Amino acid sequence: MKLQKNDTVTVLRGKDRGKKGKLLRLFPEKAMAIVEGVNNIRKHMRPTRDNPKGGIIVKEAPIRLSNVMLICPRCSQKARVGFLILSDGVKKRICKKCKEIL
Ligand SMILES: [Zn+2]
Repeated sequence: MKLQKNDTVTVLRGKDRGKKGKLLRLFPEKAMAIVEGVNNIRKHMRPTRDNPKGGIIVKEAPIRLSNVMLICPRCSQKARVGFLILSDGVKKRICKKCKEIL
């Protein structure tokens, strides 16, 4: 998996192109993710016990993983992710630009 929860990602396509946000949830089987503040939808809520007034809430909808790219925490650039296998067999993610282990 190239992306992980809490990664900072940027959006490459769509109406939120260029926006950055934290990856809140991943749906690997669907290749989708929810990114904080990205792809907001308005949802009309019926009144419930927890929310007696109902009304409209704004909520992030999942976007395709192929439309987001990791921002490297070290070089702050859009990073292509590579993998490095350490001598003890542990697989680590690295930023292909600065070679930082992520
Ligand atoms: Zn980097």
